[in-house]
Amino acid sequence: MKTGHINVQTENIFPIIKKFLYSDHEIFLRELVSNAVDASQKLKVLAKNGEYDKEIGDLKVEILLDKDAKTLTIRDYGIGMTAEEIDKYINQIAFSGAEEFVQKYKESDNKESIIGHFGLGFYSAFMVADNVEIKTLGRYDDAQAVQWQSNGTTEYTIKEIEKDQRGTDIVLHITEESKEFLEEARIRGILDKYCKFLPIPVIFGTKTIQEDDPSGEKDDEGNVKQVSKEVPDQVNNTNPAWTIMPSELKEEDYKGFYRELYPMTFEEPLFHIHLNVDYPFNLTGILYFPKIKENVEVQRNKIQLYSNQVFITDNVEEIVPEFLTLLHGVIDSPDIPLNVSRSYLQSDGNVKKISAHITKKVADKLKQMFNQDREDFESKWNDLRIFSEYGMLSDDKFADRAKAFHLVKSTEDKFFTVEEFKEKVKDTQTDKDGKTVFLYTNDKEEQYSFVKAAKERGYEVLELQGPLIPHWVQKMETTFENVSFARVDADTLDNLIKKDEDIPSKLSEEDQEKLKPVFEGVVNKDKFKIQFESMSESEAPIVVTQPEFIRRMQEQQQMGGAGFMGAFPETYNLVVNSNHAKISEVLNAKEDEQSQKAKQLTDLAMLSQGMLKGEALTDFVNRSIELI
Ligand code: ADP
Repeated sequence: MKTGHINVQTENIFPIIKKFLYSDHEIFLRELVSNAVDASQKLKVLAKNGEYDKEIGDLKVEILLDKDAKTLTIRDYGIGMTAEEIDKYINQIAFSGAEEFVQKYKESDNKESIIGHFGLGFYSAFMVADNVEIKTLGRYDDAQAVQWQSNGTTEYTIKEIEKDQRGTDIVLHITEESKEFLEEARIRGILDKYCKFLPIPVIFGTKTIQEDDPSGEKDDEGNVKQVSKEVPDQVNNTNPAWTIMPSELKEEDYKGFYRELYPMTFEEPLFHIHLNVDYPFNLTGILYFPKIKENVEVQRNKIQLYSNQVFITDNVEEIVPEFLTLLHGVIDSPDIPLNVSRSYLQSDGNVKKISAHITKKVADKLKQMFNQDREDFESKWNDLRIFSEYGMLSDDKFADRAKAFHLVKSTEDKFFTVEEFKEKVKDTQTDKDGKTVFLYTNDKEEQYSFVKAAKERGYEVLELQGPLIPHWVQKMETTFENVSFARVDADTLDNLIKKDEDIPSKLSEEDQEKLKPVFEGVVNKDKFKIQFESMSESEAPIVVTQPEFIRRMQEQQQMGGAGFMGAFPETYNLVVNSNHAKISEVLNAKEDEQSQKAKQLTDLAMLSQGMLKGEALTDFVNRSIELI
């Protein structure tokens, strides 16, 4: 037996690692199982290259739990190590890796962030064990098995042992503090999280299966009898869908893989994108489009990031643009640096390219679907819309691509791209300044009278709803030349789409001056501004409108958008149709009747727009009964 001293430059790396990795202790298992998988893969490569000519045998990684001995063993049948290799790879490399971690940790201003991403490798075993043994037999003909042991200080011992099987056992003597890692359920949970798609079978314990009785004996119904059998329990799928060529997968396989990824989700994805790039960076993966609900927040963090099939994190915000975090699925890339801080990740050239690539792929896929089967695309649009709006608002490149497929729906349930819609309405809805006005409603029930009036003029009205619309509308006005948006209830139609012809007013300026105080007397003056308009006789005598500008301000304020000084006041216009016969009646009525008629007309306008509520509504009803 030989004892040795590991030469590390940093004093006390061990207490630092133990203390600061506390929240992420469980990653030790990911690190050790990955090493075991690597050792197995290396053997395969050697055999393939003719550098190893013995039986490879059944390559697998076994996790063995011994509660009595308080040990957890990670066993592989891979390349193993000689005493010299242990010295080189463990005493020097593994320990210098740990040392580097501590250095980075000390320099980093964002300490929390580097912990989760830094694979400490072999050394992370000491987060949960106070004594670690490596028992290993190298792959060479005359290899001598050796055992290395260390208690996590810089001292270690190494000695020759008996071991028949090629490969390595890492035996962890779990500390009292970490005894949770002697619980089967805890280990299973970690394996399920990090090792579910590793390329070499990972075995943990056994499970019971039913199979045909080998004797072939049959039961009363003539079926072969079933017997229970204990078999090794493999925790991973070694060939997850994203590692298979797209041409070899069917729609059902993609759906099956979605269920494998999210066993607790019952909804099916809308469609998927299979990513497969090997130049200028390595990236594979499958992204799924979920049905996006109004509440986008709950859908985030469903993309899992892997590096060579080892799970790294489900927090990919730094790697993909924010709007893409609404997607689900898997990204696997060995080119994403994992052992660095997040702020560094955002500035990493590879990460930027990957992110741009994914954005492009997603836009391409949507465009392809749009071109291939527009009807089908339209049927899915309701679920895609928020995603696309979000993407257009947060990413200019995406916005540019989305022009080709982003749809708006008319109140006639027809779909158009913005360009198509402009083409359709430009003859009727272009105002005297050359702007094509897109009329829209966010609630066709509530704004029924406005929508109806617009349609009677031969105008088309869009249905635009949802939390992003106020911003999206603004974005479209800057993206498309000579296009402006106006909600149908923002003003009278004549004002929303100003044409050259003016309808003469039946009321003189003087008449209007007389009527103004009458109407002011029946509404809250701070909230409603009286506005006379010479509309057509057939239009309503009174309409309540809210200027587009004021409403947008309010909406953006509600969303916490722009920074306002104080609350933006809620104000409306009470538009009086100076050509309507009933308005003339009010003017010519006796003084005591004027106000009653004005009140009744105003309340009717409010009623038709769903604005008459509570006491005002009850008063109106009572007044109307008396009138009968
Ligand atoms: P990394 O895996 O990042 O290189 P580690 O500290 O995890 O760093 O491991 C250091 C080295 O020790 C590995 O590169 C490998 O050469 C060797 N090693 C670790 N575990 C095993 C194992 N189970 N079988 C063979 N070699 C191993």
